[in-house]
Formats: sequence, structure tokens, C-alpha cells
Amino acid sequence: MDRFSRYKQLLSSSSFFKLVCGAGYEELEQVSKLTFVYTLAGCTGFDVSANPLVVEACNKGIEAALSFDSPYFSNDGERPFITVSVGMPGDHHVRKAVITQDCIGCNLCIPSCPTEAIPSNLEVIEDRCIGCGNCEAVCPPSASAIEYIHNEKEISLVLPLCIQAGAESVELHAAIADDITTIKEWTTVCECVPEGIVSMCLDRKHMTNVHLVERIKLAKEIADDRLIIQADGVPMGGSANNFNTTLQAVAIADIINKELKFKDRKFNNLPILISGGTNTLTGKLARQCGVPFSGISIGTHARNIVRPELESIVVGESSIHLTEAISLAENLIRSNIIDQSKKLVNC
Ligand code: SF4
Ligand code: SF4
Repeated sequence: MDRFSRYKQLLSSSSFFKLVCGAGYEELEQVSKLTFVYTLAGCTGFDVSANPLVVEACNKGIEAALSFDSPYFSNDGERPFITVSVGMPGDHHVRKAVITQDCIGCNLCIPSCPTEAIPSNLEVIEDRCIGCGNCEAVCPPSASAIEYIHNEKEISLVLPLCIQAGAESVELHAAIADDITTIKEWTTVCECVPEGIVSMCLDRKHMTNVHLVERIKLAKEIADDRLIIQADGVPMGGSANNFNTTLQAVAIADIINKELKFKDRKFNNLPILISGGTNTLTGKLARQCGVPFSGISIGTHARNIVRPELESIVVGESSIHLTEAISLAENLIRSNIIDQSKKLVNC
């Protein structure tokens, strides 16, 4: 079976689990460690920044895992798919925080940052910033010292390099209201991977339910059966591992199902990945609510659960920390995905 068909098969059997390293996260060693651990745990896809060096770092972790002789190896030697993320100006995923001169040095932002991007000198480490906005939320109103810059990428130049480095699909973070600019960028994305899966990530911050459905229709006109919709509940919605955190992620998938997939036969097979505030309970909540999905993408929560072990892990080497990290990652994947892919792979 070719890679495109296998990707589609994982989606159609609701077996796709994607670890989101972060659209703006470019710490190469950490990316390799995350992909090493999660490949061993059976993860089927990774989402990384559209930077060829980051794709290579992702591949390094995957390769190390695939050649690893370990009883913990859970994915039967199957290579996970690498997606690179780009985004429209205004989308949270592709912005970087900057601390301005209005800062009063209260240090409240330092512990709020999920990626340790704010050191004691209060100069944001750009490679670590994922644009989550936690720092802005705790910054005193009297200071309002957080601003953002767009992590701009010339996608027609950078995407071919990412594909060359091993990426197989592209995701456009397009949670903005402007359809004309978004579809122009989407067309470029689709042209850069003419035979690959393309994903559009959408949330409801700037879009009504009606607008959401119309945007998906426009995206499908260009991508046809290569289209995936990543339905984002609350972008980078935090790490609390409870039903409330993941409620909006399941809710947006429910809306797309009811307003489009169940109503229009052309969209019956549209794959939906649930994301944004996803955690251990996302798959369970979706199943209990009767919300069908094709896969689950997890970022903050998936990274946080292995973070204490990651420091001590060396890519390619066994250790008690690796064992612990794989076990945590595996539990997260299994709690979300009822794995039917192994039954299907030989069909
Ligand atoms: S809290 Fe979020 S937005 Fe602020 S510096 Fe850290 S990663 Fe960036
Ligand atoms: S929370 Fe705001 S004022 Fe306080 S240190 Fe951070 S940027 Fe400066």
C-alpha cells in the first residue's frame, strides 16, 4: 500500500494520532527527543514547524526509534507521517511573543510559559515560543508588556525544502476571517504538495459556524480528497487533563459533522482531526457524545506529560526515563485511539 493510501486508511479507521511539536517550536534536540519517544509509543504522525532543520530533527527521532531494538516498540515499525505547519498572519499558532519596554519586571510570565521560553532576563527565546498567549494572560494590565510578531515564512520557498527533508503533508493554520487571502495561501500550499495530504486548521474565534462550513467548502474545491480539517477547540488550550478542557475540541468537530458531513454527501468522508485543548479524555468524550472523528492531535498535554523525563533521555539510547516516557505516551495514545489500523494494514 502506498503512503497516501495508508494515511487515508488510518483516517478512515479513526486510528490517526498526531503529536504536535508546535508550529513555531524549533528547538531541534527537543523535537528529536519527542519524536523518538512518541514513535516508540506508536504515534502515527507528527506536526512540526515548516523549517527543513526541524523536519530533519523530527526524522532523526523517527529513524532512531525505527532502528531501536526494544520490547517497548509499539508501532510495528511503521513510519509516522510528518506534517509541517504554516499559518496565516493573525493565527495564534504562528506568532511569537515579545516583551516590550513597558515591562515592570514582576516575573509573573516566567512560570506561565509552557515551553520555558521566558528566561530570567525576560528576553523571549524565539525558538521555544509557540504563541500560546499564557504570558499575556498573566501580565498585569498596568504593564500590558506582551506584543506579538508573525513568524513569517515564504511558503512557496520553504515548503519544497521541507518536503525534500522528509515532510509528507502540510497544514495551514487559517483561523482568520479573511477568505480571499486564506484561499490564495491555501492554493499555494496545495500546489507545493500536489499528491500529498493537506490539512486546514480552523477554530471558531473569528468565524461563525456558517462561515466555518463555507470555508471548508472552499478548501475542498481546491484540495478535493486530499483535504483534512483539523478542528481546533481552543488553540493551545492548556494542559488541565479534564473533560472541560477538551469540551470545545469535541464541540467544533460535532458542528462540522452536523452542519456539513451529515448533510452533504460530497462531504460524508471528510476526515476530521480533533485538536486544541485535547488531552487523555478527548477520544472518550467524543465517543460518549457520539461525535465521529478520524484522528486526534495533541500538543501541550502530550508534550507536558513526558517533559520531566525528556531532559534525561538521549535519542537512540535505552534508559529508565525512556521507558517511563514511552509508557506515558502510549497510555495517552491508547486512551484516545481505538486502534483498528493493525487489523487493516494487511487488507
Ligand atoms: S507563554 Fe506562550 S506566548 Fe508567551 S513566551 Fe511562552 S510560549 Fe510564547
Ligand atoms: S508579566 Fe508582563 S510585566 Fe511581568 S515580567 Fe512578564 S512581561 Fe514583564
